[in-house]
Amino acid sequence: DYKPGGYHPAFRGETYNGGRYMLVRKLGWGHFSTVWLARDTVSNAHVAMKIVRSDKVYTEAALDEIKLLRRVSTRDGSLGGYYDSSKHILSLSDSFEHTGPNGKHVVMVFEVLGENLLALIKKYEHRGIPVMYVKQIAKQLLLGLDYMHRKCGVIHTDIKPENVLMEVGDVEAIVKMVELLDKQKRDQRKFQKRATKTAIEPSVNIASVNSSRSSTSTSLERSGTRRVRRHTLITGSQPLPSPISSTNFFEMKSQMMGQSLPRPMPSSKSNINISGGEEEQVTNSLSSLEISTCTDEHAEDATPRNLDVIQIKIADLGNACWYDEHYTNSIQTREYRSPEVILGCEWGCSADVWSAACLIFELLTGDFLFEPDEGHSYTKDDDHIAQIIELLGELPYNMLETGRHSRTFFNSKGMLRNISKLKFWPLKDVLHEKYKFSEEDAENISDFLLPMLRLSPQDRADAGGMVNHPWLEDTVGLEGLKLDSRSLYDSGAGIPGWFQEVPRK
Ligand code: ADP
Ligand code: MG
Repeated sequence: DYKPGGYHPAFRGETYNGGRYMLVRKLGWGHFSTVWLARDTVSNAHVAMKIVRSDKVYTEAALDEIKLLRRVSTRDGSLGGYYDSSKHILSLSDSFEHTGPNGKHVVMVFEVLGENLLALIKKYEHRGIPVMYVKQIAKQLLLGLDYMHRKCGVIHTDIKPENVLMEVGDVEAIVKMVELLDKQKRDQRKFQKRATKTAIEPSVNIASVNSSRSSTSTSLERSGTRRVRRHTLITGSQPLPSPISSTNFFEMKSQMMGQSLPRPMPSSKSNINISGGEEEQVTNSLSSLEISTCTDEHAEDATPRNLDVIQIKIADLGNACWYDEHYTNSIQTREYRSPEVILGCEWGCSADVWSAACLIFELLTGDFLFEPDEGHSYTKDDDHIAQIIELLGELPYNMLETGRHSRTFFNSKGMLRNISKLKFWPLKDVLHEKYKFSEEDAENISDFLLPMLRLSPQDRADAGGMVNHPWLEDTVGLEGLKLDSRSLYDSGAGIPGWFQEVPRK
């Protein structure tokens, strides 16, 4: 992908826009771009720079992205009286072109944010994020979407965990720390090179463990119900920093503030390398995850210890479009794709609400809501539709009738052509039986998600109305926030392009 038309081979220290911005390190990447942390020499603050692939299609898409970003960056975001919903959309601060060996690249400049939600899902090892955090993310996501749909006339079309980013608070302090760690890492590499030559082993390396805090510690371990105190002796002169990922701002923040998110559930196996290169497999170990802060009570559950407020922003308008100008009908990433898009029906803003519900389910459980696969006699689309029906019931007749691809999936009797045996499993039961939510919680969550998963795009509940749902009433940081102008469970009242493209005047 680093060839003419592809990604720009960016590097640390490279300068942009006549020397104004200087690259520090890579923050992330997507299908369209690589994203870098850079220093703005004018304001002397740090920014995130999205460097788009240079192919014509990417460049054109990027120019549209800039127009859409300008719209969402400039509208008044006060939709619920005092609350500014626009703060939940990543805003653009600058854009320009940069020429490199692979061609001309559009570059967009944003504020620096932290990890995306996929990283958070992984941090919890796909076992689900504590409900308290899910509520914060869900409410902010809905506020952001409401603003996009109702105030800006913009449809995101690619809502998924990778495109929702968490804020990090004091960026400059974190950058300092990250730069320090980067330097240590470089030094470590040099040291290791030398060490290999002289056969000196590194002093400690805690692999697949998320703590880089402690050098010596007493750790608690649990195997079954038996608890054993175990002393990890770490020798050697200098503890080496554990490897840091390319996007660990979120972790940095937690560590700097002496806070940590509720600990993920223990993994069944963790590798701990102890000094002298001796390796040990620890089975059913709880201790290794947060060695220095682990206490008995905390080892028992994953309840948050600090009422940390997560702030999120919707990013990546690279696939977004206008309520009255859709660029393509091939929208949404597979797992978050709405039934109207699969069937080839008309679609609109409400497609984003479907994806949002899929995303919220994934935050709660760590699993995709729909994970279609192809088989010998059926396609991914067949499977996807079957899974949707199994969870939510039969598709409305008018969707089968108007969908451009309906005939491929359904016969004249409205039966799926390639899949015959369907196992109905309503959302509430899935949450209770498979994911072990209490019956009451399962009921409340399903009450919250189902209106956003209404099969007909026209009937789907809108984001603003869903902000007012009782499940979000006690959201930390947004307690009691309601949008007076919206009604719970309403379906896009007064939102142009809610379920179809509006003809351009
Ligand atoms: P693409 O259109 O290529 O998918 P995105 O805008 O989604 O590009 O950015 C790709 C990744 O880069 C994101 O998933 C995220 O991890 C990281 N990223 C994007 N913008 C920022 C930002 N402002 N701050 C920090 N990381 C970012
Ligand atoms: Mg992306």
